[in-house]
Amino acid sequence: MKTEFSIAQLADADIAEADKILRACVHCGFCTATCPTYVLLGDELDSPRGRIYLIKEMLEKQKPPTEAVVKHVDRCLSCLACMTTCPSGVHYMHLVDQARVKIERDFRRPLKERLLRAVLARVLPEPKLFGAAMRLARFARPLAALLPAPNSGKAKPTLLQRLSAMLALAPRELPEPGPAAGGVFAALGRRRARVALLQGCAQQVLAPRINQAAINVLTRHGIEVVLVKDEQCCGALTHHLGRDDDALARARANVAAWSAEASRQGLDAILVTTSGCGTVIKDYGYMLREDGDFAGPAAEVSALAKDITEYLSGIKMKPVQSAHGDIVVAYHAACSLQHGQKVTAIPKDLLSKNGFVVKDVPESHLCCGSAGTYNLLQPDIATKLRDRKIANIASVKPDMIAAGNIGCMMQIAGGTSVPVVHTIELLDWATGGPRPPSN
Ligand code: SF4
Ligand code: SF4
Repeated sequence: MKTEFSIAQLADADIAEADKILRACVHCGFCTATCPTYVLLGDELDSPRGRIYLIKEMLEKQKPPTEAVVKHVDRCLSCLACMTTCPSGVHYMHLVDQARVKIERDFRRPLKERLLRAVLARVLPEPKLFGAAMRLARFARPLAALLPAPNSGKAKPTLLQRLSAMLALAPRELPEPGPAAGGVFAALGRRRARVALLQGCAQQVLAPRINQAAINVLTRHGIEVVLVKDEQCCGALTHHLGRDDDALARARANVAAWSAEASRQGLDAILVTTSGCGTVIKDYGYMLREDGDFAGPAAEVSALAKDITEYLSGIKMKPVQSAHGDIVVAYHAACSLQHGQKVTAIPKDLLSKNGFVVKDVPESHLCCGSAGTYNLLQPDIATKLRDRKIANIASVKPDMIAAGNIGCMMQIAGGTSVPVVHTIELLDWATGGPRPPSN
Protein backbone atom coordinates (compact mmCIF):
# COMPACT_ATOMS: atom_id res chain seq x y z
CA MET A 1 0.00 0.00 0.00
CA LYS A 2 1.39 3.37 -0.99
CA THR A 3 1.75 5.81 1.89
CA GLU A 4 2.25 9.57 1.93
CA PHE A 5 3.83 10.44 5.25
CA SER A 6 6.09 13.49 5.23
CA ILE A 7 9.78 13.26 6.19
CA ALA A 8 8.93 15.12 9.41
CA GLN A 9 6.20 12.60 10.26
CA LEU A 10 8.55 9.68 9.59
CA ALA A 11 10.99 11.04 12.16
CA ASP A 12 8.49 9.79 14.77
CA ALA A 13 9.33 6.15 15.61
CA ASP A 14 5.65 5.14 15.84
CA ILE A 15 4.76 6.69 12.47
CA ALA A 16 7.82 5.07 10.90
CA GLU A 17 6.56 1.73 12.23
CA ALA A 18 3.03 2.41 10.95
CA ASP A 19 4.48 3.27 7.54
CA LYS A 20 6.33 -0.05 7.43
CA ILE A 21 3.18 -1.97 8.40
CA LEU A 22 0.97 -0.14 5.89
CA ARG A 23 3.44 -0.66 3.05
CA ALA A 24 3.36 -4.41 3.67
CA CYS A 25 -0.38 -4.55 2.95
CA VAL A 26 -1.15 -5.46 -0.68
CA HIS A 27 -4.95 -5.07 -0.22
CA CYS A 28 -5.57 -8.68 -1.23
CA GLY A 29 -8.48 -8.95 1.23
CA PHE A 30 -7.68 -12.51 2.37
CA CYS A 31 -7.99 -11.27 5.95
CA THR A 32 -11.65 -10.32 5.52
CA ALA A 33 -12.72 -13.98 5.43
CA THR A 34 -11.52 -14.67 8.97
CA CYS A 35 -12.40 -11.34 10.58
CA PRO A 36 -15.30 -11.91 13.03
CA THR A 37 -16.78 -8.43 12.61
CA TYR A 38 -16.71 -8.68 8.81
CA VAL A 39 -18.21 -12.18 8.94
CA LEU A 40 -20.98 -10.87 11.20
CA LEU A 41 -21.62 -7.37 9.78
CA GLY A 42 -20.50 -7.72 6.14
CA ASP A 43 -19.22 -4.13 6.02
CA GLU A 44 -15.80 -3.58 4.41
CA LEU A 45 -15.10 -0.89 7.03
CA ASP A 46 -15.53 -3.56 9.70
CA SER A 47 -12.87 -5.71 8.03
CA PRO A 48 -9.10 -5.55 8.64
CA ARG A 49 -8.49 -4.08 5.19
CA GLY A 50 -11.15 -1.40 5.70
CA ARG A 51 -9.75 -0.51 9.10
CA ILE A 52 -6.23 -0.36 7.71
CA TYR A 53 -7.39 2.24 5.16
CA LEU A 54 -9.17 4.26 7.83
CA ILE A 55 -6.13 4.20 10.12
CA LYS A 56 -3.80 5.16 7.25
CA GLU A 57 -5.96 8.19 6.42
CA MET A 58 -6.12 9.23 10.06
CA LEU A 59 -2.38 8.97 10.65
CA GLU A 60 -1.38 10.59 7.34
CA LYS A 61 -3.67 13.60 7.69
CA GLN A 62 -2.72 14.30 11.31
CA LYS A 63 -6.31 15.33 11.97
CA PRO A 64 -8.49 14.35 14.92
CA PRO A 65 -10.10 10.94 14.32
CA THR A 66 -13.52 11.09 12.67
CA GLU A 67 -16.67 9.43 14.08
CA ALA A 68 -16.35 6.77 11.36
CA VAL A 69 -12.78 5.85 12.29
CA VAL A 70 -13.70 5.62 15.96
CA LYS A 71 -16.78 3.51 15.26
CA HIS A 72 -14.96 0.92 13.17
CA VAL A 73 -11.78 0.78 15.27
CA ASP A 74 -13.93 0.42 18.41
CA ARG A 75 -15.69 -2.53 16.77
CA CYS A 76 -12.36 -4.32 16.19
CA LEU A 77 -11.88 -7.07 18.76
CA SER A 78 -8.06 -7.04 18.48
CA CYS A 79 -8.51 -10.80 18.06
CA LEU A 80 -5.66 -10.83 15.49
CA ALA A 81 -7.27 -13.49 13.30
CA CYS A 82 -6.29 -11.18 10.43
CA MET A 83 -2.61 -11.54 11.34
CA THR A 84 -2.84 -15.31 11.16
CA THR A 85 -4.48 -15.12 7.73
CA CYS A 86 -2.43 -12.34 6.14
CA PRO A 87 0.06 -13.73 3.60
CA SER A 88 2.10 -10.51 3.64
CA GLY A 89 2.90 -10.44 7.35
CA VAL A 90 1.05 -7.17 8.07
CA HIS A 91 1.47 -6.45 11.80
CA TYR A 92 -2.10 -5.30 12.34
CA MET A 93 -1.74 -5.44 16.14
CA HIS A 94 0.86 -2.68 16.31
CA LEU A 95 -1.16 -0.59 13.86
CA VAL A 96 -4.49 -0.83 15.68
CA ASP A 97 -2.77 -0.29 19.04
CA GLN A 98 -1.38 2.96 17.67
CA ALA A 99 -4.79 3.96 16.32
CA ARG A 100 -6.41 3.36 19.71
CA VAL A 101 -3.84 5.60 21.41
CA LYS A 102 -4.48 8.38 18.90
CA ILE A 103 -8.25 8.06 19.33
CA GLU A 104 -7.90 8.21 23.11
CA ARG A 105 -5.73 11.33 22.87
CA ASP A 106 -7.43 13.25 20.07
CA PHE A 107 -11.11 12.26 20.04
CA ARG A 108 -13.60 13.58 22.57
CA ARG A 109 -16.12 10.84 23.28
CA PRO A 110 -19.57 11.66 24.76
CA LEU A 111 -19.46 12.17 28.53
CA LYS A 112 -21.18 8.85 29.43
CA GLU A 113 -18.70 6.97 27.24
CA ARG A 114 -15.73 8.75 28.80
CA LEU A 115 -16.99 8.00 32.30
CA LEU A 116 -17.57 4.33 31.51
CA ARG A 117 -14.10 3.89 30.02
CA ALA A 118 -12.51 5.75 32.92
CA VAL A 119 -14.27 3.46 35.43
CA LEU A 120 -13.22 0.31 33.54
CA ALA A 121 -9.62 1.51 33.29
CA ARG A 122 -9.54 2.32 37.01
CA VAL A 123 -11.37 -0.68 38.43
CA LEU A 124 -10.51 -3.73 36.30
CA PRO A 125 -6.70 -3.70 36.76
CA GLU A 126 -6.92 -3.35 40.57
CA PRO A 127 -7.97 -6.59 42.27
CA LYS A 128 -9.22 -4.84 45.45
CA LEU A 129 -11.43 -2.41 43.52
CA PHE A 130 -12.56 -5.09 41.08
CA GLY A 131 -13.42 -7.47 43.95
CA ALA A 132 -15.49 -4.75 45.64
CA ALA A 133 -17.26 -3.99 42.33
CA MET A 134 -18.06 -7.68 41.84
CA ARG A 135 -19.50 -7.95 45.36
CA LEU A 136 -21.76 -4.96 44.64
CA ALA A 137 -22.72 -6.36 41.25
CA ARG A 138 -23.98 -9.57 42.91
CA PHE A 139 -26.68 -7.57 44.68
CA ALA A 140 -27.56 -5.71 41.51
CA ARG A 141 -27.89 -8.89 39.40
CA PRO A 142 -31.71 -9.12 39.82
CA LEU A 143 -31.97 -5.69 38.15
CA ALA A 144 -30.56 -7.19 34.95
CA ALA A 145 -34.06 -8.47 34.10
CA LEU A 146 -35.25 -4.84 33.92
CA LEU A 147 -32.51 -3.79 31.50
CA PRO A 148 -32.38 -4.29 27.72
CA ALA A 149 -30.61 -7.53 26.73
CA PRO A 150 -26.92 -7.09 25.80
CA ASN A 151 -27.77 -8.23 22.26
CA SER A 152 -30.90 -6.16 21.78
CA GLY A 153 -29.71 -5.16 18.32
CA LYS A 154 -28.95 -1.45 18.78
CA ALA A 155 -26.49 -0.22 16.13
CA LYS A 156 -24.80 1.88 18.79
CA PRO A 157 -24.65 0.17 22.19
CA THR A 158 -26.44 2.08 24.95
CA LEU A 159 -25.25 2.52 28.52
CA LEU A 160 -28.11 0.31 29.78
CA GLN A 161 -27.16 -2.48 27.35
CA ARG A 162 -23.60 -2.27 28.64
CA LEU A 163 -24.76 -2.31 32.24
CA SER A 164 -26.82 -5.37 31.44
CA ALA A 165 -23.72 -7.05 29.94
CA MET A 166 -21.70 -6.24 33.07
CA LEU A 167 -24.32 -7.66 35.42
CA ALA A 168 -24.63 -10.80 33.29
CA LEU A 169 -20.89 -11.41 33.69
CA ALA A 170 -20.82 -10.85 37.46
CA PRO A 171 -20.50 -14.19 39.29
CA ARG A 172 -23.13 -15.26 41.85
CA GLU A 173 -20.43 -16.03 44.43
CA LEU A 174 -16.86 -14.84 44.72
CA PRO A 175 -14.29 -17.47 45.69
CA GLU A 176 -11.91 -17.16 48.63
CA PRO A 177 -8.69 -15.29 47.74
CA GLY A 178 -5.94 -17.45 46.29
CA PRO A 179 -2.17 -17.57 46.94
CA ALA A 180 -0.86 -14.17 48.09
CA ALA A 181 1.76 -11.99 46.40
CA GLY A 182 5.26 -12.62 47.70
CA GLY A 183 4.58 -16.34 48.16
CA VAL A 184 7.24 -18.88 47.20
CA PHE A 185 6.10 -22.44 46.54
CA ALA A 186 8.88 -24.97 46.88
CA ALA A 187 9.47 -27.67 44.31
CA LEU A 188 8.56 -31.19 45.41
CA GLY A 189 11.71 -33.29 45.24
CA ARG A 190 14.77 -32.06 43.41
CA ARG A 191 14.39 -28.47 42.12
CA ARG A 192 14.67 -28.38 38.31
CA ALA A 193 13.81 -24.75 37.70
CA ARG A 194 12.44 -21.56 39.24
CA VAL A 195 9.67 -19.52 37.62
CA ALA A 196 7.53 -16.46 38.32
CA LEU A 197 3.79 -16.90 37.84
CA LEU A 198 1.80 -13.82 36.79
CA GLN A 199 -0.89 -13.23 39.40
CA GLY A 200 -3.18 -11.34 37.04
CA CYS A 201 -5.83 -8.84 38.07
CA ALA A 202 -9.39 -9.94 37.25
CA GLN A 203 -8.42 -13.63 37.27
CA GLN A 204 -7.17 -13.59 40.86
CA VAL A 205 -10.58 -12.26 41.95
CA LEU A 206 -12.79 -14.44 39.75
CA ALA A 207 -10.90 -17.74 39.67
CA PRO A 208 -7.85 -17.99 41.96
CA ARG A 209 -8.15 -21.76 41.54
CA ILE A 210 -6.49 -21.40 38.11
CA ASN A 211 -3.16 -20.22 39.46
CA GLN A 212 -3.47 -22.69 42.35
CA ALA A 213 -3.72 -25.46 39.73
CA ALA A 214 -0.66 -24.06 37.94
CA ILE A 215 1.29 -24.02 41.24
CA ASN A 216 0.19 -27.62 41.94
CA VAL A 217 1.35 -28.87 38.53
CA LEU A 218 4.62 -26.94 38.54
CA THR A 219 5.72 -27.84 42.08
CA ARG A 220 4.68 -31.47 41.48
CA HIS A 221 7.14 -31.48 38.58
CA GLY A 222 10.06 -30.06 40.54
CA ILE A 223 9.61 -26.38 39.67
CA GLU A 224 9.73 -23.66 42.31
CA VAL A 225 7.12 -20.94 41.82
CA VAL A 226 7.33 -17.36 43.03
CA LEU A 227 4.53 -14.77 43.02
CA VAL A 228 6.60 -11.62 42.69
CA LYS A 229 5.55 -9.06 45.28
CA ASP A 230 5.64 -5.76 43.38
CA GLU A 231 4.04 -7.09 40.23
CA GLN A 232 0.96 -5.31 38.81
CA CYS A 233 -1.75 -5.89 36.23
CA CYS A 234 0.13 -6.46 32.95
CA GLY A 235 -1.49 -3.38 31.38
CA ALA A 236 -3.42 -5.25 28.66
CA LEU A 237 -6.79 -3.83 29.70
CA THR A 238 -5.74 -0.19 29.53
CA HIS A 239 -3.51 -0.85 26.49
CA HIS A 240 -6.58 -2.01 24.56
CA LEU A 241 -8.48 1.08 25.69
CA GLY A 242 -5.74 3.22 24.12
CA ARG A 243 -4.55 4.46 27.55
CA ASP A 244 -0.92 3.91 26.89
CA ASP A 245 0.43 6.08 29.70
CA ASP A 246 -1.21 3.71 32.17
CA ALA A 247 -0.28 0.54 30.24
CA LEU A 248 3.36 1.58 29.82
CA ALA A 249 3.66 2.54 33.50
CA ARG A 250 2.42 -0.93 34.44
CA ALA A 251 4.78 -2.55 31.93
CA ARG A 252 7.74 -0.65 33.41
CA ALA A 253 6.74 -1.60 36.97
CA ASN A 254 6.53 -5.28 36.00
CA VAL A 255 9.82 -5.22 34.10
CA ALA A 256 11.46 -3.69 37.18
CA ALA A 257 9.86 -6.24 39.56
CA TRP A 258 10.70 -9.32 37.47
CA SER A 259 14.21 -8.09 36.59
CA ALA A 260 14.93 -7.53 40.31
CA GLU A 261 13.64 -11.01 41.16
CA ALA A 262 15.71 -12.54 38.33
CA SER A 263 18.89 -10.88 39.54
CA ARG A 264 18.19 -11.82 43.22
CA GLN A 265 17.23 -15.48 42.92
CA GLY A 266 17.15 -16.26 39.19
CA LEU A 267 14.13 -16.91 36.98
CA ASP A 268 13.95 -19.50 34.23
CA ALA A 269 10.64 -18.22 32.93
CA ILE A 270 7.73 -15.88 33.61
CA LEU A 271 4.60 -17.98 33.25
CA VAL A 272 1.15 -16.74 32.37
CA THR A 273 -2.19 -18.52 32.72
CA THR A 274 -4.21 -15.74 31.05
CA SER A 275 -3.30 -15.65 27.40
CA GLY A 276 -4.58 -12.08 26.93
CA CYS A 277 -1.89 -10.97 29.39
CA GLY A 278 0.73 -13.24 27.83
CA THR A 279 0.36 -11.59 24.42
CA VAL A 280 1.00 -8.15 25.91
CA ILE A 281 3.92 -9.24 28.12
CA LYS A 282 5.54 -10.86 25.09
CA ASP A 283 5.17 -7.46 23.43
CA TYR A 284 6.78 -5.45 26.27
CA GLY A 285 10.06 -5.48 24.34
CA TYR A 286 8.33 -3.68 21.46
CA MET A 287 6.21 -1.40 23.65
CA LEU A 288 9.26 -0.15 25.58
CA ARG A 289 11.73 -0.27 22.68
CA GLU A 290 12.35 3.48 22.81
CA ASP A 291 12.29 3.65 26.60
CA GLY A 292 15.92 4.28 27.58
CA ASP A 293 17.03 1.99 30.38
CA PHE A 294 13.86 -0.12 30.17
CA ALA A 295 14.29 -1.22 26.55
CA GLY A 296 16.86 -3.98 27.24
CA PRO A 297 15.22 -5.43 30.39
CA ALA A 298 11.80 -5.29 28.70
CA ALA A 299 13.11 -7.37 25.80
CA GLU A 300 14.55 -9.86 28.31
CA VAL A 301 11.23 -10.08 30.15
CA SER A 302 9.39 -10.69 26.87
CA ALA A 303 11.83 -13.46 26.02
CA LEU A 304 11.21 -15.11 29.42
CA ALA A 305 7.40 -14.91 29.15
CA LYS A 306 5.60 -18.14 28.27
CA ASP A 307 2.10 -19.45 28.35
CA ILE A 308 1.83 -22.16 31.03
CA THR A 309 1.13 -24.83 28.38
CA GLU A 310 4.13 -23.72 26.30
CA TYR A 311 6.34 -24.18 29.33
CA LEU A 312 4.88 -27.54 30.33
CA SER A 313 5.37 -28.88 26.81
CA GLY A 314 9.12 -28.47 27.36
CA ILE A 315 9.31 -30.59 30.51
CA LYS A 316 8.69 -34.28 31.04
CA MET A 317 5.34 -34.57 32.78
CA LYS A 318 4.63 -37.33 35.31
CA PRO A 319 2.61 -40.39 34.28
CA VAL A 320 -1.09 -39.82 33.86
CA GLN A 321 -3.69 -40.73 36.48
CA SER A 322 -6.83 -42.20 35.01
CA ALA A 323 -9.21 -40.74 37.60
CA HIS A 324 -10.98 -38.62 35.02
CA GLY A 325 -11.94 -41.42 32.60
CA ASP A 326 -12.66 -40.68 28.94
CA ILE A 327 -13.83 -37.11 29.30
CA VAL A 328 -14.60 -35.35 26.02
CA VAL A 329 -13.09 -31.85 26.10
CA ALA A 330 -13.93 -29.17 23.55
CA TYR A 331 -10.80 -27.06 23.33
CA HIS A 332 -11.60 -23.39 22.85
CA ALA A 333 -8.60 -21.64 21.30
CA ALA A 334 -8.40 -18.16 22.84
CA CYS A 335 -7.52 -15.61 20.14
CA SER A 336 -4.67 -14.21 22.20
CA LEU A 337 -3.15 -17.70 22.38
CA GLN A 338 -3.76 -18.93 18.83
CA HIS A 339 -3.40 -15.66 16.90
CA GLY A 340 -1.48 -13.48 19.35
CA GLN A 341 1.10 -16.04 20.48
CA LYS A 342 0.75 -18.74 17.79
CA VAL A 343 0.32 -21.39 20.49
CA THR A 344 -2.11 -23.71 18.75
CA ALA A 345 -1.39 -27.45 19.01
CA ILE A 346 0.42 -27.48 22.38
CA PRO A 347 -2.58 -27.21 24.76
CA LYS A 348 -4.50 -29.87 22.83
CA ASP A 349 -1.48 -32.19 22.72
CA LEU A 350 -0.97 -31.83 26.47
CA LEU A 351 -4.62 -32.62 27.15
CA SER A 352 -4.53 -35.66 24.83
CA LYS A 353 -1.31 -36.96 26.37
CA ASN A 354 -2.97 -36.63 29.76
CA GLY A 355 -5.85 -38.87 28.76
CA PHE A 356 -8.59 -36.46 27.67
CA VAL A 357 -10.50 -36.93 24.42
CA VAL A 358 -9.91 -33.55 22.78
CA LYS A 359 -12.28 -32.17 20.16
CA ASP A 360 -11.56 -29.23 17.88
CA VAL A 361 -14.37 -26.69 17.71
CA PRO A 362 -15.65 -25.71 14.22
CA GLU A 363 -14.80 -22.09 13.26
CA SER A 364 -12.20 -22.15 16.03
CA HIS A 365 -10.45 -19.14 14.44
CA LEU A 366 -13.43 -16.89 15.31
CA CYS A 367 -13.40 -14.94 18.57
CA CYS A 368 -15.94 -15.73 21.34
CA GLY A 369 -16.57 -11.99 21.79
CA SER A 370 -14.83 -11.56 25.13
CA ALA A 371 -11.72 -9.64 24.01
CA GLY A 372 -10.79 -7.78 27.21
CA THR A 373 -13.44 -5.12 27.80
CA TYR A 374 -15.05 -5.66 24.37
CA ASN A 375 -18.01 -7.64 25.74
CA LEU A 376 -18.78 -4.71 28.04
CA LEU A 377 -18.31 -1.98 25.41
CA GLN A 378 -19.80 -3.75 22.37
CA PRO A 379 -22.31 -6.12 23.99
CA ASP A 380 -24.43 -6.68 20.89
CA ILE A 381 -21.60 -7.97 18.65
CA ALA A 382 -19.98 -9.78 21.58
CA THR A 383 -23.15 -11.69 22.46
CA LYS A 384 -23.73 -12.69 18.83
CA LEU A 385 -20.18 -14.03 18.65
CA ARG A 386 -20.61 -15.85 21.95
CA ASP A 387 -23.82 -17.54 20.79
CA ARG A 388 -22.15 -18.60 17.54
CA LYS A 389 -19.18 -19.98 19.50
CA ILE A 390 -21.44 -21.88 21.89
CA ALA A 391 -23.39 -23.44 18.99
CA ASN A 392 -20.09 -24.57 17.44
CA ILE A 393 -18.91 -25.99 20.77
CA ALA A 394 -22.23 -27.80 21.32
CA SER A 395 -21.84 -29.51 17.93
CA VAL A 396 -18.95 -31.64 19.30
CA LYS A 397 -21.00 -32.69 22.36
CA PRO A 398 -18.35 -32.11 25.02
CA ASP A 399 -18.42 -33.06 28.70
CA MET A 400 -16.23 -30.03 29.44
CA ILE A 401 -14.87 -26.96 27.66
CA ALA A 402 -11.21 -26.01 28.18
CA ALA A 403 -9.68 -22.60 27.48
CA GLY A 404 -6.51 -20.74 28.41
CA ASN A 405 -7.96 -17.32 29.13
CA ILE A 406 -10.28 -16.21 31.94
CA GLY A 407 -12.07 -13.70 29.69
CA CYS A 408 -13.12 -16.44 27.26
CA MET A 409 -14.06 -18.73 30.14
CA MET A 410 -16.45 -16.15 31.65
CA GLN A 411 -17.87 -15.22 28.27
CA ILE A 412 -18.59 -18.82 27.22
CA ALA A 413 -19.81 -19.89 30.67
CA GLY A 414 -22.44 -17.12 30.45
CA GLY A 415 -24.23 -19.04 27.69
CA THR A 416 -23.84 -22.74 28.42
CA SER A 417 -24.36 -25.25 31.22
CA VAL A 418 -21.35 -27.33 30.11
CA PRO A 419 -18.52 -26.79 32.66
CA VAL A 420 -15.89 -24.36 31.41
CA VAL A 421 -12.44 -24.90 32.92
CA HIS A 422 -8.88 -23.76 32.37
CA THR A 423 -6.55 -26.15 30.54
CA ILE A 424 -4.19 -26.14 33.54
CA GLU A 425 -7.02 -27.31 35.83
CA LEU A 426 -7.45 -30.41 33.68
CA LEU A 427 -3.69 -31.03 33.66
CA ASP A 428 -3.65 -30.65 37.45
CA TRP A 429 -6.52 -33.12 37.79
CA ALA A 430 -4.82 -35.61 35.48
CA THR A 431 -1.58 -35.45 37.44
CA GLY A 432 -3.01 -35.83 40.92
CA GLY A 433 -4.90 -32.61 41.71
CA PRO A 434 -8.62 -32.07 42.42
CA ARG A 435 -11.42 -32.32 39.89
CA PRO A 436 -12.19 -28.80 38.56
CA PRO A 437 -15.54 -27.41 39.74
CA SER A 438 -18.56 -27.14 37.44
CA ASN A 439 -19.81 -23.68 36.33
S1 SF4 B 1 -4.54 -10.11 4.08
FE1 SF4 B 1 -2.81 -8.78 4.70
S2 SF4 B 1 -2.10 -7.88 2.78
FE2 SF4 B 1 -4.12 -8.71 2.35
S3 SF4 B 1 -5.54 -6.95 2.73
FE3 SF4 B 1 -5.42 -8.11 4.64
S4 SF4 B 1 -3.79 -7.09 5.79
FE4 SF4 B 1 -3.56 -6.42 3.66
S1 SF4 C 1 -8.20 -7.94 14.99
FE1 SF4 C 1 -9.96 -9.32 14.65
S2 SF4 C 1 -11.77 -7.96 14.58
FE2 SF4 C 1 -9.93 -6.66 14.35
S3 SF4 C 1 -9.67 -6.46 12.14
FE3 SF4 C 1 -8.37 -8.20 12.78
S4 SF4 C 1 -9.68 -10.01 12.52
FE4 SF4 C 1 -11.03 -8.22 12.47
